[in-house]
Amino acid sequence: MTTAAAPAEAPRPVIQVVGVTKIYQMGTNKVFALHGVDLTVTSGELIAIMGSSGSGKSTLMNVLGCLDVPTEGKYTLDGVRVDGLGRNALADLRNQKLGFVFQGFNLLARTSAIENVELPLLYDRQNRWKDTRKLAADALTRVGLGDRLDHQPSELSGGQQQRVAIARALVTQPTILLADEPTGNLDSHMTIEVMALFQELNEQGITLLIVTHEQDVANYAKRIVEMRDGRILHDHPVEGKRRAAEDLLALGTADPAVETVAA
Ligand code: ADP
Ligand code: MG
Repeated sequence: MTTAAAPAEAPRPVIQVVGVTKIYQMGTNKVFALHGVDLTVTSGELIAIMGSSGSGKSTLMNVLGCLDVPTEGKYTLDGVRVDGLGRNALADLRNQKLGFVFQGFNLLARTSAIENVELPLLYDRQNRWKDTRKLAADALTRVGLGDRLDHQPSELSGGQQQRVAIARALVTQPTILLADEPTGNLDSHMTIEVMALFQELNEQGITLLIVTHEQDVANYAKRIVEMRDGRILHDHPVEGKRRAAEDLLALGTADPAVETVAA
């Protein structure tokens, strides 16, 4: 049997969270946004985190993304103990190990796709990158936008803007890509396009954690983690995982890489 571009390395734990609690003090009230969460993410996984509004998904993503620190518990990211680190060390970890994709794309307006993707390379605190233009162009090509390098966000469809944001997240070669409701601002067709891209990247070895409240989106993952009231309620593999690329074909769509931009 041949498999396309299987990850070369043996699976290893990328994220290890043990007993993580996040408490917000609201006046005299304590809100347990996270309440004793245990989670291990292994390289090569494609995980959907589900749960209703207020269940703690974004708080978990913020902790995993080193944007927020847990009140209690242990967090190890790619072998580095995260809890207890200061702001600068957290910023460095974010830079070196994480890629972020947001619901609202968060692209700079009046700035070309290639400049948007190049930005995290230019702002790298360790100045690790050379040939930043070429790396940005390569990342855009990887997400099917090699022919849109000079387009500004306003000249791209929502799905294409999100793909620019995904290229921006990938360009620093992160250990894991974290996406909070990445399809929340997209119509159902663009949603499937973006999920097809995530599945393709995952097949190339990228580890992904995607927050969504849509079951249709979660069904494209390999594993679903369901949260409620700051706890993990269920954690299970997806049976009969769907292939977004096949669903796109069934919809009778052309290659997303050559889709035309709405004028
Ligand atoms: P979700 O992303 O699943 O909608 P959140 O992680 O945003 O959930 O929120 C989980 C809980 O923590 C909610 O009850 C929310 O009101 C509370 N919460 C989140 N952020 C804060 C904050 N900065 N201050 C106080 N409470 C917060
Ligand atoms: Mg949220």
